[in-house]
This record gives sequence, C-alpha cells and structure tokens, in this order.
Amino acid sequence: MKKVQTSKKSLSQFIDVVGEKKIDEIVSLASELKGLRVLHINATSFGGGVAEILHTLVPLMNNVGLKVDWMVLDGSNDFFDFTKKMHNSLQGKEGTISEEEKKLFLRINKANAQSLKEVDYNVIIIHDPQPIAVPKFVDFQDTKLIWRCHIDTSTPNEEFVEFLNSFVEYYDASIFTLKRYAGKLRFRKIYEIPPSIDPLSPKNRELTPNELKASIDKLKVDTNRPLITQVSRFDPWKDPTGVVDVYRELKKELKDLQLLMIGSMASDDPEGWTMYEELLRYIGRDYDVKVLTNFHGIESIEVNAAQRISDVVLQKSIREGFALTVSEALWKETPVVGGNVGGIPTQISHGVNGYLVNNIEEAVEYTKILLTDETLRKEMGKKGKDIVKEKFLITRHLLDYLKLFRDLVK
Ligand code: UDP
Repeated sequence: MKKVQTSKKSLSQFIDVVGEKKIDEIVSLASELKGLRVLHINATSFGGGVAEILHTLVPLMNNVGLKVDWMVLDGSNDFFDFTKKMHNSLQGKEGTISEEEKKLFLRINKANAQSLKEVDYNVIIIHDPQPIAVPKFVDFQDTKLIWRCHIDTSTPNEEFVEFLNSFVEYYDASIFTLKRYAGKLRFRKIYEIPPSIDPLSPKNRELTPNELKASIDKLKVDTNRPLITQVSRFDPWKDPTGVVDVYRELKKELKDLQLLMIGSMASDDPEGWTMYEELLRYIGRDYDVKVLTNFHGIESIEVNAAQRISDVVLQKSIREGFALTVSEALWKETPVVGGNVGGIPTQISHGVNGYLVNNIEEAVEYTKILLTDETLRKEMGKKGKDIVKEKFLITRHLLDYLKLFRDLVK
C-alpha cells in the first residue's frame, strides 16, 4: 500500500461558510479525541467520490488534532477487473464469483496487509469492497475497524453479498450513506453518514473571472447558447447514453442546445475506457456534444466552471450511492435533473431544487421545463445551495465522523 500525501487545510477557513457555532462544536468534540490515530484505506487517490472526499477529510481531521493517514491499495489489472465486477454486482447486476477470483482477491488483500504489520492505529476505516479483506491478514488487537460503504447495496446480487459477509466478523462497525443500503450485510453496528463536498476546494470554490474564462476556453462551449452537462465516470450506472438520448430529444426543439459530458478515468475503474469509446461511437458526428476527460486537461477547476455555466446539470444515474456531482452543481446554484435512485433523492426535492426522473421521457420533460424558464432555474438553484449548506458540507461530515469515533473508542 502507498501513503497518499494531502495538502494542508484549516477548519477555521470554513467559519465564513458555516458560521462560528458549527466550527466550535467540531473543535470541542475533537479536543476529546486529540491524538487519536486514524487510518483510511481505499482503492484510489484520484477519480470518483471517495478520493474526492478523503482529500479534504484527511487534512481536516489532522487539523483538528487527530493523527490521520490515508493509504491506497496496490492492485493488478485483473484485481480491479474483478472488484469492478463486484461493485456492479453489489448494485444488482447478474454475475458469479469463481474460485480463482476469490483467490486473487484474497491474495491482493493479503499482500497489501503486509504494510500494516508494523503500524499502530486506534481506528482504521476501510472504504468500499476492494480492501475489505485486509483485516483478515493482520492481528489488529485493540484497533477499531470500520467498513465504509459508498455504494448502493440495497438490492445486491446474493452471491457477492455472501462473499462480503465472510469478512464482517473483522469489523466493529460500518457506515452507509443510507441505513437501508446495509440490506443483507450483517455488520454489528451500522451508522448512517451521507457524503459531503468541500465548498473551498478547487472543485467548488468561487472562480475568478480569469479562471472562468480560461476554463470555458478549455471546455470549448458557447456560453451564449443553452448548455446541459453531466459530470461522471464513464460507467453504465451513470447512464451516459441515456444522457445523449435526452439531449437528442431536446435538440429537436431547442436547436441551439449543447451537451457537455465530462468524465475522469479512475485507476480502479478499468471499464472507463471501453465505456468512453462506446459513448463516442454512440454520439457520432455531433459537434454540439463535447466529451472531455482529465486526459484533455479537464481538472477540478474546469469541472467547477462547467457546473457553474451550465443551465441544467444532469445526473441520470440508474443506481447511485450518493452522487457528489449533484451537491457540487447545487452548491453553484445550478438546478439538477437527477435519476430517482439511491442518494440522489436525499439531495433533490422534486420541483424545489431540481427534478427527480425515472426514465428518459421524464428527463426530457423536466430538463425542458428548466431550459425554457430562467427565473425558475435561478429560484431552484438558490434553494439547491441552501440544501447543500444545511446537509452536505464537509464540516457536517467531519462532525459525524468525530461522533462515531467517540462512540467507538470511549
Ligand atoms: N469527477 C471529476 N472529473 C470527472 C468526473 C468526475 O472530477 O471527469 C468528480 C466529480 O466532480 C465528483 C466525483 O468525481 O467529485 C464523483 O463522485 P460521485 O459521488 O458523483 O460518483 P462516483 O464516481 O463516486 O460513483
């Protein structure tokens, strides 16, 4: 395993965003936990929501007096092929596990566990299925172990659930985005903690006019014409071809419409490239559709700009743990049309800060309502920001973690 270096962050910077009272509450609770040694383990330091969160959560935990590290798993391509299959099956896709795959999974987890033989942490948080078997290979003695699940495991493929259940005995507790996701997983203690965004990160902070202009140049969109955007890994559950269908239907009437699709390639997601190529084929020669990735230099600032300048952001997922992209867009006062699945309805109230949709027809209908009514877009955008401020900022997330640590170690 490799340690991830994160940049320094200071909790006091958030006073202007959430107010002194909330910050004081965090500081006070953290003082009870001063020096607590915590380790986060996940599969990748870049691409996807978990890495996004840890880049802020880890430095903030350190800033409030805990001693926190973050390590990422070393895995081979065939390991990540299997864990992506596992991810898909846990979200309900058909599939079986072969004995070879089980052996491969355990072998890689065991090899990674070697890095933990000499360490001493009070709490270890293991994110998602990829490293779930690590504790099988280390005698952690007094360390409290937590499994943090970021995916929607409420209607999973049974064979994969049973496989995960063979590791629950090593854990003291688990965290799910929604309690109901725990489904048939037999963890001792279940905590519900929704994810969050960092309002001050390059992804979400205000941009200077120069940054905005430079980003628009890179995104190659025309800001004088209507724009809809989806930001997502290229993953079947995010329904990228469905997004193209929605655009095509709208384009029949709104001739000026542009579609921007931004996707990053995460190192633990080998499906990304295949999906990307398929998507380009599906789009064909429509110059009003732009498909951009981190390989085109589209990083956090450009994603930030895209979410800001879009008239409507889509998140047309058909399964979704949470979708940070929804809160990210709402924070920028852009209304979102999102799939009525998983964690999306916790962020979007239908008709208040966007719309929840169950199919392409509904996505077309509601995106059109927004595209043709600027006042409504503004109103909904404002309400969207309020909801994120109340529920989905990193400060609330940090406080939830501290409460959990107090529960487990005291
Ligand atoms: N993301 C990004 N660039 C991309 C695609 C995604 O920075 O091209 C970020 C996105 O802004 C969000 C995260 O990756 O912060 C995706 O998290 P989400 O919870 O939406 O989905 P996940 O990938 O974890 O399923």
